[in-house]
Amino acid sequence: MDKKIFDMRADGASIIGIAPLEILDSRGNPTLQVTVRLLSGATGVAAVPAGASTGKHEAAESRDGDKKRYGGKGLQEACEKIKGEVSDLLLGQNAADQGRIDKLLIELDGSDNKQTLGANTILAVSLAVAHAAADHYAIPLYRYLGGVGASILPVPMMNIINGGAHADNDLDIQEFMIMPVGFNKFSEALRAGAEIFHSLKTILKKKSLSTNVGDEGGFAPNLSSADEALTLMGEAVTAAGYKPGGDIFYALDCASTEFFKDGVYHLPGIKKKMTASQLTDYLAKLCDEFPIISIEDGMAEDDIDGWDILTKKLGKKIQLVGDDLFVTNPTRLQMGIDKNLANALLVKVNQIGSLSETLTAVAMAHRHHYRAVMSHRSGETEDTTIADLAVATNCGQIKTGAPSRGERTAKYNRLLVIENQLGREAIYAGKTILRK
Ligand code: PGA
Ligand code: ZN
Repeated sequence: MDKKIFDMRADGASIIGIAPLEILDSRGNPTLQVTVRLLSGATGVAAVPAGASTGKHEAAESRDGDKKRYGGKGLQEACEKIKGEVSDLLLGQNAADQGRIDKLLIELDGSDNKQTLGANTILAVSLAVAHAAADHYAIPLYRYLGGVGASILPVPMMNIINGGAHADNDLDIQEFMIMPVGFNKFSEALRAGAEIFHSLKTILKKKSLSTNVGDEGGFAPNLSSADEALTLMGEAVTAAGYKPGGDIFYALDCASTEFFKDGVYHLPGIKKKMTASQLTDYLAKLCDEFPIISIEDGMAEDDIDGWDILTKKLGKKIQLVGDDLFVTNPTRLQMGIDKNLANALLVKVNQIGSLSETLTAVAMAHRHHYRAVMSHRSGETEDTTIADLAVATNCGQIKTGAPSRGERTAKYNRLLVIENQLGREAIYAGKTILRK
């Protein structure tokens, strides 16, 4: 233990150890895991995720850059920083004062985008501190962060067909998701999602299409149009005994920053180039033909005029989620609120890089009647923090992939545990997320 003077009022919640470890994510790339130990004997462990279709306004990751290890993606430097300057700063601090911990880390970093320490470095410590504090009080993380009011189980957005940067097929749109809203319990909704996933597999097999899965656990058959993908999804929903547009709705993540070049949207899968207004019409048509209730990143991160066109046309009836647009950053979100862009925030802890700022972004969204959707990244670990965050913030929706691959099901399984713990207190968000 270090020579620091401990804050006796912290009542055993003083941080006495911060131990980093370079581990692997679901794509086989290194990522950070941090264990925080408190004077009381409590511990907290957290690991950070990584994106593939990352937005340019996201906080910066720290990577060693030494090509001899992990192609430059190693995290030895980040581990050294945690053992050195970060530990010097935080040992002796009260783990239950999350706001102060994050403020100290952000000040130590000192840059606008967390490039000095790295958003991954700060986030791993920030989340592990919260886990340790929850352990110290012997309450689950969702209860520690959300208090007695944390009771809403989110509607899962299950990405069952993968395209874009997450798969080697011709689908321009990155994610085709099902949202099982018409159920009374999270566990029933999840079961429906898993049954649909299996019926989709059977259908793909019958059509001699690939049943290999992409980065987020969804199938990545060689389809080229959204129409084909959505039609197959409808067949799968019906074959599993559910009703598209009744129990089950659809959501898309276009991740359109990926195919926006020189002011034009390039959709090679359907052999088209579109302006923002043509893309809006295309998406509006898909919404007319299929029961789509949510579209993420329908426009590119800096195409503010495009977002304006899309929001004016669809914003009253469809949930329009800003991912690359807002990057979980309260400043970007405020810009969107001021300009009336989108109507929901995608929440990815590593885009902003600290727990406090993530919670600030969600609170800001809610204050301005924007929805918030808790989200994983395409590169994930077994860490389940986002499941607790979804319940803690009562945000009502979570994106954590298909019901396949351990790093995805870990989050669903954690939500099952939470639902079970909450018992009769648990409320499934279900149909309440449908826009009026
Ligand atoms: P990413 O994809 O984690 O690769 O950024 C997820 C998303 O775009 O929502
Ligand atoms: Zn996205």
